[in-house]
Amino acid sequence: MMLCLVHKWEGCKCTKCGKMRDSDHSFDLCKGKCIICDKPCDVLHDWDGCTCRRCGKTRDEEHNWIDGKCSRCSKIDFDTLTDQGILADVALNSNNSVERSKAIARLEDQDALAKIVNNADNIMDIRMTAVARITKQDILAGIAGDESSDFKVRTEAISRLTVPMVIASIIMNIPEIITEPENENDSINERVRKKEEEAKIHAGYSAVTQAAFVNITDEDVINDIFNNAVCSVVRIEALSRLGNQDMLGDIAKDTGQDPAIRDAAVQRITDRRVLTGIVSSTADEVREAAVKRMTELRAES
Ligand SMILES: [Zn+2]
Ligand SMILES: [Zn+2]
Ligand SMILES: [Zn+2]
Ligand SMILES: [Zn+2]
Repeated sequence: MMLCLVHKWEGCKCTKCGKMRDSDHSFDLCKGKCIICDKPCDVLHDWDGCTCRRCGKTRDEEHNWIDGKCSRCSKIDFDTLTDQGILADVALNSNNSVERSKAIARLEDQDALAKIVNNADNIMDIRMTAVARITKQDILAGIAGDESSDFKVRTEAISRLTVPMVIASIIMNIPEIITEPENENDSINERVRKKEEEAKIHAGYSAVTQAAFVNITDEDVINDIFNNAVCSVVRIEALSRLGNQDMLGDIAKDTGQDPAIRDAAVQRITDRRVLTGIVSSTADEVREAAVKRMTELRAES
């Protein structure tokens, strides 16, 4: 081993013999140690706001926010971000549910919002937030008329549509509810399940239809829906908005109509003359309903 008569110091180390001394260290303030001998020192970054000028390390303070993005470290603030590309990417792809919700709440890209609504894997809250941000009418019409989608989502979509004829055509196309036939071998549970399933669909179509009628006030359009809708739930909702007494009387007398619809028509009638017409020209259960209705009206007056 070579011994130095005179060491050749480079900082804290002799380059000839390797001897170390505890002076003249080359401290790296970012790493907190001497780069030659690892002697520790205090860490002291050279902060420019959130980012160290020397090593590029970032800290979560003193960001320079521009439209929700830090110009130095690129950190995103989802409460203020406006960049639609980034928002759409996070809204569709992020695994962080908090960031996703925040991104959706600021997203305006209509196609991206539609994708979120139509993805049944998304939780209902997220889908509802997204559909409430859609304003494009053709996208809303697509969601509202989608028989494979949830009633809650469809109800929100239809309530955001503004053109009565578009709304009308969507509810006129709602299919009739298919009643699963009673099977005598069905267990009680199976019977209950069938009933509940049917009640759920009934309630769903009612909600969609009621939301639709908020923006339909024209009696001709309502009449059109009554005459042309496929689903009896929709027809009865339309009927409950018709006021023309003679028209209601004709519906009640029409044996070609569904009994439930004829009965609903009778319940809408307040004109005693029209009820008398029904009583004198029908002989079935609708006649009884009309007689009962007359009695009710007499009691009210
Ligand atoms: Zn030496
Ligand atoms: Zn050193
Ligand atoms: Zn640093
Ligand atoms: Zn920053």
